[in-house]
Amino acid sequence: MTGRPIITDIQNTWCPGCGNFSIQHTLKNILADMEKEGRSLDDVVLVSGIGCHAKIADYLNINSFYSLHGRTIPVATGIKLANPRLTVICCCGDGDCYAEGLDHLLFAAKRNLDITVMVHNNRVYGLTTGQYTPTSPLGFRGKSTPMGTEEFPFNPLELMLASGATYVARGYTKKMDQLKGLIREGIDHHGFSFIDVLQICATFFPAADYYTPRVYDLADHDPAQFMAACTRAREWDYNGDAKIPLGVFYRARFPTFDDRMAQIEMGQDQRDAAVRGIMSSRE
Ligand code: SF4
Repeated sequence: MTGRPIITDIQNTWCPGCGNFSIQHTLKNILADMEKEGRSLDDVVLVSGIGCHAKIADYLNINSFYSLHGRTIPVATGIKLANPRLTVICCCGDGDCYAEGLDHLLFAAKRNLDITVMVHNNRVYGLTTGQYTPTSPLGFRGKSTPMGTEEFPFNPLELMLASGATYVARGYTKKMDQLKGLIREGIDHHGFSFIDVLQICATFFPAADYYTPRVYDLADHDPAQFMAACTRAREWDYNGDAKIPLGVFYRARFPTFDDRMAQIEMGQDQRDAAVRGIMSSRE
């Protein structure tokens, strides 16, 4: 695979100004760096869900699996457990992974599965032309809420910290250098890595004028401190006028689900028999 273009020549249908371009180019640069370091991109698998973000599986020239809505993480889990040698990166949408796929996200964090989950959090269903998602702000007016939403967004960083994620970060598509560092660190982290990326939707939620004056770097924070991470995650609740911290909130080393599974000594015959046993018990 060495030397072949990382961006495919498939026609790109994202809207001009979409933050997905920033994520795509950030990932491309990370993959190019990994290749220069001697890592084979054949050992990298990208899994996407359904939504504007998911087209990234078509636009990056690496192994990929374009999955179902909300189901990136079960697919990624299967890939990682079947071949723990692989680097598995999930690109999810906020509607995709904070709504329909939320249970999968929580349990992958709980298990500390060694995958990287990057949420293209544009805070709107863009592909279906502008319905509100779990992170849309209170009062968001979209196709399904013409009078504005009557519910508060939830804070995905708090959910991830409470669920057991061992790398929790937030980036912004207009801070690409920082975003590159956050995603690369997430990929290199041994454990469940979660990166919430504030992504501009140029068409249905063009929030750059809101984000840009508010974001700041979490330079004074020690990500080894769990309670401090919780406090910093609460500084901005995805609503209101507070400053928005970007960076690594939490980083810790704990045994991963795949490490624990690898310790179970089971030959293929035993594994097949166990699967047969599970299947027959359902009859
Ligand atoms: Fe990007 Fe929004 Fe257009 Fe989708 S609808 S491609 S998220 S700008």
